[in-house]
Amino acid sequence: MKELLLIPGPTPVSEEVLSALSKETIAHTDDRFASIMTSALDKTRKLFGAEKGFPFIIAGSGTLGMEMALTNILNEGENLLVLSHGFFGDRFVDIGKTLGVNVEVLKAPAGETVPLTSIESTLRKHHFHAITITHVDTSTGTLADVETIANMVHEVSPETIIVVDGVCATGGVEQKFDKWGIDVIFTGSQKALAVPPGLTLLAFSERAIEKRKSMAKVRTYYGDILRWMPVMEDPHKYFATPAVNMVYALEKSLSIITEFGLPAYYEKHTRMAAKVRAALTTVGFELVSKHPAPTLSVFKYPDGIEDAAFRSKLAVKGVIVASALAELQGKAFRMGHMGSVTEDELLVALKRMLEVCQELGVKVDKGQALNAFLEA
Ligand SMILES: *Cc1c(COP(=O)(O)O)cnc(C)c1O
Repeated sequence: MKELLLIPGPTPVSEEVLSALSKETIAHTDDRFASIMTSALDKTRKLFGAEKGFPFIIAGSGTLGMEMALTNILNEGENLLVLSHGFFGDRFVDIGKTLGVNVEVLKAPAGETVPLTSIESTLRKHHFHAITITHVDTSTGTLADVETIANMVHEVSPETIIVVDGVCATGGVEQKFDKWGIDVIFTGSQKALAVPPGLTLLAFSERAIEKRKSMAKVRTYYGDILRWMPVMEDPHKYFATPAVNMVYALEKSLSIITEFGLPAYYEKHTRMAAKVRAALTTVGFELVSKHPAPTLSVFKYPDGIEDAAFRSKLAVKGVIVASALAELQGKAFRMGHMGSVTEDELLVALKRMLEVCQELGVKVDKGQALNAFLEA
């Protein structure tokens, strides 16, 4: 059987997308490539709900998206408020510091979210040029209520630029860039979009682009949106060579997703999450997050299950899950259920997990878990 890659990115890539990836490489200035790129950019807009946003597709991982988001909107010495629900929120703190920005962070305990009232009072105390929200923090599996936070920011501090890290959310969770008034959003190819790692997709609002234009200096060359904008408007132009084959794969996957329908794709993620959670919690696993995301689950082990043994025995059976991060390491594991993964595949994974529990000497009621999966 094919290995089941159930980590929170990279996620399994379908045969269709893999075969698009392996098509012959053509010139990046060729009409045929330009039209594939343009199509991928149009679909990127739809994905983010950003008909008014300016889209970018750039070679690099999700972290490049994070860095481009901040470098293009913050001058050295300006103030950034970071909402951190885990490891990837904290990464914005590091990037901000690297860029010489003043960073204040509101950090929630693992599995919790920063209360709206403390975000509001922090914004009232002090002027922040930008705020970052990690839509789904992949370390804790926590979903942030971006819409509510954005509405509050518009009311309390309308000048503050809103940056959303969508890397583990976009495609699996609805995002309304225009409607929610987001200024910068980005994702990576290897999570809910089910494409190999290697691309970051972004959208900037008009206001964010104006901010970049007002900056005398930007601390990046490759990541400067002003160098990329002419290329995204007309992909025949050259700034730096695009990842031609990766764009084939992305366009293919976005076509599959759009054809399936975005609402149906979100619903599929919600349903898969509910099934996996119903099953594993019946046999003693515990969900870490109080605001769980549809794209992944972080489960605490029941007594008697040792992390490394569980994951390695599972890997032998062809199911790959990820270790937990930071203070959860050794106590929990992370399971992605996003992208092209199917319910049938998740059911296979569940059976293997239950077998591993039994091999490790922990009694589990297999029938009950399987029923919970099927009924959820
Ligand atoms: C995976 C992830 C990133 C980092 O993406 P890379 O492709 O590993 O650089 C950033 N933010 C979130 C929320 C992620 O899940």
